[in-house]
Amino acid sequence: MEISPKIHLLDGTEGSFSYLVLGDEPVLVDTSLASRRDRLVRSLEQCGLKPTDLAHIVLTHMDVDHIGNAKWLQDASGATLWAPEVEVPYIHGERKAPGLRGLIQTMMKVERPKVTATFREGEKIGGLEVIPAPGHTIGHVCLLSGDVLLAGDLVNTRNGKLRPSPGFLTWDKVALQKSLRDVGRRSFDWVCPAHGRPVPRASWWDVWMN
Ligand SMILES: [Zn+2]
Repeated sequence: MEISPKIHLLDGTEGSFSYLVLGDEPVLVDTSLASRRDRLVRSLEQCGLKPTDLAHIVLTHMDVDHIGNAKWLQDASGATLWAPEVEVPYIHGERKAPGLRGLIQTMMKVERPKVTATFREGEKIGGLEVIPAPGHTIGHVCLLSGDVLLAGDLVNTRNGKLRPSPGFLTWDKVALQKSLRDVGRRSFDWVCPAHGRPVPRASWWDVWMN
């Protein structure tokens, strides 16, 4: 699904969407579930790219449904693998997240990638601006490209309705509320989450109505 000429939702990654940002240096945002690997590759090919063409892979956060193909894609492409610095030990599997998230990390084994670069505030990667948005996890980030917000798991959508990330998976509820306010102050027209289809920005206020 084309969000804009530059930004594509990879339809094959239904369940935990990855997004492809086309530019001088192709960027993949999140890598979905390991079980989506073949479909992810096919979706890339539909956009005219092979995994070897990726220059950057950006992880919005540590969760297993976002890092599932990071190692395989990194090995295939030699792309720079970006992640929030504070989450690197969790992504590498050296530290276990608290509560249910830790349990899920233990049960859903993934090949652990090697993060090769970490974000600085305001950093741009292939034209994408990194926006810190902690709460769902301690170092979660969103990414902004023109009028499109790649929201990661800050929010999700269901039947066209935008909702905050679910409470039972929220690392820090106060931080999440602050991130929703901070990101909501930014200028964008489309919200593209990992879970659920993209929606127009007008629905941002839905997140406080649920
Ligand atoms: Zn998540």
